[in-house]
Amino acid sequence: MTDKIVLDYCKKMEELGIKNKVLEHPPLVEAAQVVNHLGYTLDDSVATLIMKADDDFIAVLRRDVTKISFKKIKKLLGIESLRIATPEEFSKVTGLEIGTARFYVPNLKTYIDKEVFGKKYILGGTGSLNYTFQCLSEDLKKLPGVEVVDVTVPIEQEKSHSTSVKRVFSGIRATGRLHLGNYLGAVKGFLELEKSGEYETVYCVVDVHSITTPYDKNALAKNKREIIIDYLAAGLDPKKSIIIYQSEVPEHIELAFYFSSVVTIARMQHLPTYKDKVKQHPDANTMALLNYPVLMASDILIYKAGLVPVGIDQEPHLEVAREIARKMNQLYGTDFPEPVRFATKGEYIPSLTGEGKMSKTVVNSFINLTDSLEKIRKKIRSVPTATAAGGEMSPGLKTLFIFAQLFIPSEVEGFKKSYQDKSLQFVELKDRIAEAIYKELKPFQERRAKISADQKYVDEVIRDGAERAHRIARETVKEVKHKMGLL
Ligand code: ATP
Ligand code: MG
Repeated sequence: MTDKIVLDYCKKMEELGIKNKVLEHPPLVEAAQVVNHLGYTLDDSVATLIMKADDDFIAVLRRDVTKISFKKIKKLLGIESLRIATPEEFSKVTGLEIGTARFYVPNLKTYIDKEVFGKKYILGGTGSLNYTFQCLSEDLKKLPGVEVVDVTVPIEQEKSHSTSVKRVFSGIRATGRLHLGNYLGAVKGFLELEKSGEYETVYCVVDVHSITTPYDKNALAKNKREIIIDYLAAGLDPKKSIIIYQSEVPEHIELAFYFSSVVTIARMQHLPTYKDKVKQHPDANTMALLNYPVLMASDILIYKAGLVPVGIDQEPHLEVAREIARKMNQLYGTDFPEPVRFATKGEYIPSLTGEGKMSKTVVNSFINLTDSLEKIRKKIRSVPTATAAGGEMSPGLKTLFIFAQLFIPSEVEGFKKSYQDKSLQFVELKDRIAEAIYKELKPFQERRAKISADQKYVDEVIRDGAERAHRIARETVKEVKHKMGLL
């Protein structure tokens, strides 16, 4: 480990008698992503919240499976006003980046919620997005000037005002043809939840989201219909699921504007997805792009959906949706649920280039669901396998093993062994993966050909979906307008 600020922090904690271990991971902001990556759950992690209590800042440590009770803190401290610090205040008080808050915040009165001690070992920030701190929870009592308090409520308890209908929502941008990442990270989850029969499922082609990055208007019209056909070919049943175009339910956009009144610009600018897209399109840093997560929150919450089948890249956006739900419920007494992600085994499919994730808008990164065996073979053969410096497995080879794990799990051990004894023929591994991917996609491609031949049926699905979605969306917007004093 080379990060000096992390080393210094760990040393300081040792000096305070707090033995610790540091766990390394890719740069991640959201606790859910970090614990997921490290093989833990939110039950194991503790967040440090910096709060403004009247005129002073305080730090509050709470387990990630609990929520702060503003009422309890106000009563305990005998204060009038209490809020979470803004990102600017956070950085000023801690000297750290958002998402890296530590257990020890020098010069700040620190309150530790009693639930923190419900787990023997706990995880927390280190001051770096690449490292997570682990220590005995009991040891936190050795921090200078801390006080153990009862200031949280379990998350389940707060869900009491969620809706009685259990709904699921998800959507895909019409920025190109569906690829393996979309299928494994999202559509497979759509199908599983539809099949469970436990939910009312709403699946959307989020065509309005497609205009948040540069696009071709002729391609958009074509792509959005192709995605509806992909949904049907993947096995979604329009009798069970509501299948829609986002733009045909304009209430999504209306609600997004109301929601934007409870979200700060700074919060949006800090999102990793926003930063990535600005890097990808530096000349198109638009208001629409900044608003993307607010519109996504509206897509989900307009149906009061509590479960969202999406890939792991969308976790930061779901956190925003939860924050918006919470804020709206606090300020206006609405009853929005706090939506959580429904994860699948393929929640993160890497790019064929060996860098980043597979994306519709990143050239040479993807395998489309409609690709032929020849095309898949050619694309998989193009994954770079040159050995990385130091003899480590190259990113391209790691990608191949991820595919192998997903498509030919029983053969992974054998290929790993031959990699270790240096007898691995890369082309042999690549061709086996290509064949297995094609085998999984073939039935989809056959169904797709049949559905494409019946465009009248596709029209009916779209019309019927819009009607059913409209009925729900209209009600939610009416309720929100009323509660916000607009009706
Ligand atoms: P774009 O490049 O336009 O952002 P995309 O390929 O990222 O396209 P989206 O329409 O943004 O696709 O996302 C649709 C769904 O597919 C989301 O649920 C997203 O989490 C999921 N998804 C996208 N890429 C991957 C991936 N590489 N692995 C797993 N899931 C993915
Ligand atoms: Mg995307």
